[in-house]
Amino acid sequence: MKPNSYNPYVSAQTQFDNVAAMINLEPGVRELLRQPLREIHFTIPVKMDDGSTKVFKGFRIVHNDARGPAKGGIRFHPHETADTVRALSMWMTWKCAVVDIPLGGGKGGVICDPHNLSKGEQERLCRGFARRVAQNIGPVIDVPAPDVMTNGQHMLWIMDEFEAIAGGRYPGVITGKPIGMGGSLGRKEATGYGVIYVLREALKKLNIDISKTTASIQGFGNVAEYAARLYSLMGGRIIALSTWDEHDKKAYTFRKKDGLDIEKMVEIKDSFGTIDKKKAADLGCDILDGGEWLSQDVDIIMPCALENQLTPEVFTKISDNVKVICEGANGPTTPDCDKLIKEKGIFIIPDFLCNAGGVTCSYFEQVQCNMNYFWTKEEVLEKLDTKMTQAFNAVYDLAEDKRLYMRDAAYVIAINRVAEAVKLRGWV
Ligand code: GLU
Repeated sequence: MKPNSYNPYVSAQTQFDNVAAMINLEPGVRELLRQPLREIHFTIPVKMDDGSTKVFKGFRIVHNDARGPAKGGIRFHPHETADTVRALSMWMTWKCAVVDIPLGGGKGGVICDPHNLSKGEQERLCRGFARRVAQNIGPVIDVPAPDVMTNGQHMLWIMDEFEAIAGGRYPGVITGKPIGMGGSLGRKEATGYGVIYVLREALKKLNIDISKTTASIQGFGNVAEYAARLYSLMGGRIIALSTWDEHDKKAYTFRKKDGLDIEKMVEIKDSFGTIDKKKAADLGCDILDGGEWLSQDVDIIMPCALENQLTPEVFTKISDNVKVICEGANGPTTPDCDKLIKEKGIFIIPDFLCNAGGVTCSYFEQVQCNMNYFWTKEEVLEKLDTKMTQAFNAVYDLAEDKRLYMRDAAYVIAINRVAEAVKLRGWV
């Protein structure tokens, strides 16, 4: 999961430009939607435990808020860049639009590696982040959430600092909060479960019995973990999973040809997804190179880690038996690799549809916070399933009807909804 030469912002704009041309989007709307509405770039000085001060660079970028307040996570990652955050904010706009929730798209990031920060340093970083963006976020402005290497505790520190500045209680300022502190039951499962709800629908369309399928997954953070758990509960077998090893600074693939016991794998990982190799070997796993997750003879591959992982270079390794690509990550496939997937006729569930379960549940969290009345986990997951299934069917029907690639069909629906909103508002 090392960075490569692909720029996610260029990928996001290429995808957008292709569909904008296909649907003859008016030039003014096109110009507006191919870039963010506003960006803030800032530095956050943090007092480290050893008494020194470290200065971190951060971003919060809003791509579009015509359909509602901007929404999207905050990533903590050593390879974060402004362009990555721009791309991710754009994908959030399409994500909220494709599942038809009244929110726009935003994203934030801090260049840092939380593996190397103590709890206290992480708290001071979160509070510093909140102070830098306090005037630009809020329940009706822009609402952050967890993402790569951030969690509910980070969200709560940000909320607490924001509330201290704003002088009131604003649980709707951020989502992904811990349960009992305004968080929604089901939020931690939501993204991964959503991936599997749409996979289940896709397999129905393809007449494939999920309990007879095998899969290989990249990543073992929050999205991958819950996707793997629900997929296993539905009878699917995860043959391989690949995750970053923080000690060795490289990724490994853990493989078991008759299927990994996901609950046991969860027990031997740390909170960032690094797996204890010795314990994995004791469980009977083959430990292979990080890239090997892609070359397994499976029915389904699920990139659930970072952007730019499926490139033409690695695509040559994919088995001819792969029938479905399920994009749990944001932007895992480069546009030149999309061409190869199309040619090969592999069914793809595109990222901003596939992983929309997280933000959909964040929307439910906001609704519950506004009512100050919280639903049961069953209610949350049932509503989530309904929303994801509806969105999948709308995209699938359009793709079938107009003979479109699934990613393009998802873009057509999302772009049309956002274009309508900017026109109704009279922006263009
Ligand atoms: N970070 C998640 C995503 O990429 C969730 C965003 C949110 O809940 O606002 O979709």
